[in-house]
Amino acid sequence: MPTDVLVVGAGPTGLVLALWLTRQGVKVRIVDEASGPGQQSRALAVQARTLELYRQADLTDAVIAGGWKTAAVNLWVAGAPKARIAFADFGVGLTPYPFLHIFPQDAHERLLVERLSGLGVEVGWNTELAAFLETADGVSARLRTSGGHEAACEARFICGCDGARSAVRAGIGATFPGGTYRQTFYVADVEAAGPPANGELHVGLDESDFLAIFPIDGAGRVRLIGAIRDSRADDAGDPRFEDVSRRAIDHLEVEVRQVNWFSTYRVHHRVADRFRKGRAFLLGDAAHIHSPVGGQGMNTGIGDAINLAWKLAAVLRGKAAERLLDSYEIERQAFARRLVATTDRVFTFAAAQGPVADFLRTRLAPLVIPQAARLDAVRDFLFRTVSQITLNYRDGPLAAGRAGAVHGGDRLPWAGGEHDNFAPLATIGWQVHAYGGSPGPLRDWCAARGMPLHAFAFGKAHADAGLVEGAAYLLRPDTYVALASPSGATDELDRFLAERGLLP
Ligand SMILES: Cc1cc2nc3c(=O)[nH]c(=O)nc-3n(C[C@H](O)[C@H](O)[C@H](O)COP(=O)(O)OP(=O)(O)OC[C@H]3O[C@@H](n4cnc5c(N)ncnc54)[C@H](O)[C@@H]3O)c2cc1C
Repeated sequence: MPTDVLVVGAGPTGLVLALWLTRQGVKVRIVDEASGPGQQSRALAVQARTLELYRQADLTDAVIAGGWKTAAVNLWVAGAPKARIAFADFGVGLTPYPFLHIFPQDAHERLLVERLSGLGVEVGWNTELAAFLETADGVSARLRTSGGHEAACEARFICGCDGARSAVRAGIGATFPGGTYRQTFYVADVEAAGPPANGELHVGLDESDFLAIFPIDGAGRVRLIGAIRDSRADDAGDPRFEDVSRRAIDHLEVEVRQVNWFSTYRVHHRVADRFRKGRAFLLGDAAHIHSPVGGQGMNTGIGDAINLAWKLAAVLRGKAAERLLDSYEIERQAFARRLVATTDRVFTFAAAQGPVADFLRTRLAPLVIPQAARLDAVRDFLFRTVSQITLNYRDGPLAAGRAGAVHGGDRLPWAGGEHDNFAPLATIGWQVHAYGGSPGPLRDWCAARGMPLHAFAFGKAHADAGLVEGAAYLLRPDTYVALASPSGATDELDRFLAERGLLP
């Protein structure tokens, strides 16, 4: 049976893509060579921007209910607590989700699989993409089951959500430039006791030893991440938890009672040189990988999926010219490059070795970081960046205009309270927001196109968020501002859509 979109890979990126496509009425087939969802906790952090976007699939409440809000980060040097930075003041007023949310990737994937199944789409486990080629009006893929059986799959588009060793990436001949850091790291999910098992985040900044402790459930289950010293990494055989450097662990008085998962890994920083060739797309780790600093990887893959899903749906339904699909690579590759460069700088600092690096980490950082975190501007900047709410597509082809502080391409700023402007963002579709004024002509314009118009009585919360009275904001189906029009003139909206071949 031909399908609209073949999604290769059922990690978080592929599952979100399949879910968003299905909710828009697109026929999807999703396959994965694994026998079922991932069993390891891997990505822990679900950023505020992901929680905002998850309202579109009614996922946010389930992710919040199943996870853990982290109250603070603690810095330790040589076993002594040096600073505690509470997250309570970070992000307040910027988003409905001003906290650092932990929801392990295994539970996250299970939730997505369940939701997809609820819509009648089952993941084809034990099914590997063996090869594919582009045909006149689609792609023809060869799928191989774990039993060795091969079958063809015809689709209009193929999406490579197949992780760092992507077969789709190889299939389109994309390169994956970047590099691999020298150090080997370990990750251990453990049941623990001791001061750092208090549900908060802890970072141990010992000389030549680095340890980060993430809470997983607030009840003694924690994630340890540390560097394996060169001498041990070079030893023959796979290191075990007993082999890792104990200095920082002992200094922080972590009593490990049980090791649930232990793995070592090298960290790469790479961005594919193209995210699309014809009818094939790359998303998630298939397109970009970087250090786990800042908990960005999984969230960025999810962002790719939400960015692409509405574009594929629009083109498949004849509601947009095919050139809309070009905007996927333009918008997402630019962000991936910035992200990889930023995480590279932070990671290089955190993992650097030698006396100067030790001095900066153990003497300077514990003094400077807490002082800096007291400044509103620093907290604001950090939260906006890490939560991904600052991510915008201003320089892309789907952005125009400026009204107040809001540019075309921006995330719509949140204005909570009585007239919460995020309330209507729980659907996937074009919409117009009008603030104050009398949106008569806009109302007719929207009605003629079956496009929802949300008119808000202009209030202080809207002004504080940078919105302006009398303006109209045309929102894309992924809730980013397409056109920001100070006057809300309908001919501006018409021109914007016509120039881009969009028929919402
Ligand atoms: C220790 C660790 C900690 C991390 N912490 C964080 C964090 O806190 N926050 C964060 O955002 N990110 C984090 N990450 C990164 C995060 O786990 C990845 O970015 C995320 O899993 C990427 O999702 P994905 O769906 O793109 O790819 P993957 O999760 O790799 O999924 C790819 C899927 O494709 C399947 N596949 C591969 N090849 C084929 C084929 N030929 N045919 C069919 N199926 C195929 C695989 O079986 C797999 O299921 C962490 C990663 C690690 C290892």
